Amino acid sequence: MFEDLIEFIRNLYNTNQVIPLHEPVFNQFDKQLVNEAIDSTFVSSIGKFVDRFENEIVNFTGTKHALATVNGTSALQVALRLAGVKHGDEVLTQSLTFVATANSIIHNSASPVFLDVDLDTMGMSPTALISFLDTYGIKKETGTFNKSTGKRIAAVLPMHTLGHPCRIDKIIEIADSWNLPVVEDAAEALGSCYKKKHCGTFGLLGVFSFNGNKIITSGGGGAIVTDDNHLAQKAKHLTTTAKVDHPWEFIHDEVGYNYRLPNLNAALACAQLTHLQQYLSRKRLLAEKYKYFFSSSTLGSFINEPQNSQSNFWLNGIITDSKDIRDRILKETNEQGIKTRPLWRLITELEIYKSFHKDDLNNSKQLQDRIINLPSSVNFK
Ligand SMILES: *Cc1c(COP(=O)(O)O)cnc(C)c1O
Repeated sequence: MFEDLIEFIRNLYNTNQVIPLHEPVFNQFDKQLVNEAIDSTFVSSIGKFVDRFENEIVNFTGTKHALATVNGTSALQVALRLAGVKHGDEVLTQSLTFVATANSIIHNSASPVFLDVDLDTMGMSPTALISFLDTYGIKKETGTFNKSTGKRIAAVLPMHTLGHPCRIDKIIEIADSWNLPVVEDAAEALGSCYKKKHCGTFGLLGVFSFNGNKIITSGGGGAIVTDDNHLAQKAKHLTTTAKVDHPWEFIHDEVGYNYRLPNLNAALACAQLTHLQQYLSRKRLLAEKYKYFFSSSTLGSFINEPQNSQSNFWLNGIITDSKDIRDRILKETNEQGIKTRPLWRLITELEIYKSFHKDDLNNSKQLQDRIINLPSSVNFK
C-alpha cells in the first residue's frame, strides 16, 4: 500500500535523495535580475524592481493597486489596520490556517474569533459566518458589536487554503449585510481564481506571500492589493515609516512601519513572476498525476479544486479515511525521506490561542486529522 505511494513519488521526482514538501525553483534569469539589483546599488526599499513588481501584480491579478511588503504577515497586519481594526476589536477568521493569519489580528491588539471551514473548500464556511453573526451580532450606530463580549466586530478575515478558493462571494455578501470589511488572506493563492476573478481581489483588501515555500518566491515578501485609491496610498505611507514627502526633511506623521519590500527581493520576485504561468501549468499537471494515482488507491482521496474555481494547486493533498491511516502514511513516507506533512495544528489548539472564542469546528477538526500534503515542487520530471 505505502510502497506504491512511495514508489510513485520517487518516480515523480526521479531521485533517491530527500524529497521536500515544496522547494523553490530558480534559473539563470533569477540570478541575472538579482545581480542587476546589486549592480544598481539600489538594494533597499526604493528601486525600479519594486515598482515593476507592483505593476505586474496589478496586471496579473486584475486589482487596481499592489503594495509590496517584507512578508505576508506584515501585509496582513497593515491590511487589517487599514480595514479599520483597532485595539480591543474582534476579527472573524478561521481556525484552520497558518498561525500568521491569527497573529496579524493580535498584532493589531484585537481578538480573533475562530469559525469553522467548509469541508470541500477548507476555507471559511459562509454558514458558520451567518450563524455566528445571527447569534452574537448586533448593529449599532457605531458599528457591528458582539452581544456577548460587548466588543466591536471590525472585520472578516477568510483564508484560501492550500490555494483552493473559499466561497468568497458568499462571505462578502454576508459581511456586507453586517457592514463588515473583508480582508482576504490569499497568501497561498497567487494564480487561483474563483468564478474567474483572482483570489485576494474580492475583499476591501487582499494579501499575498512570496515566502520561500509559496508558489513563487522573493526570499521573503508580501503584497497588499486593493481597488481603493485612498487605502493604497495609506498602505504605501504606513509601510514606509509614514514619512511625509519632502526633498530633505524627516517628517513622519504617524507611527508607521518599516515594511517595504527591498529592491533586492523585488528583483527576484520580478524574475519569478515570469515563471508563474509555467509553474501554474506544472502544478496542474502534477495535480492530474496525483489525482490519477489516487483514483485507484485506498490510501485516500485526492483534494481537487472546489466548484466554480481554478486553483493554483500550491500544495497537493489527500484526505484519508481516518487519523490512524493519516499517521501511518506520514510515518512511512517521512522515514523514507519523503517529506509529506499534515495540515497545521488548529490555531485554537495552540496554547497561545486557547482562550479566544471558537465555533464547534467539526469540519476543521476532521480535516486537520485526515489531510496529508504531498511533495508539490514544480521540478518533477
Ligand atoms: C505563508 C502564509 C502567511 C504569511 O506569509 P509570510 O510571507 O510567511 O509572512 C500568511 N497566511 C497564510 C495562510 C500563509 O500560508
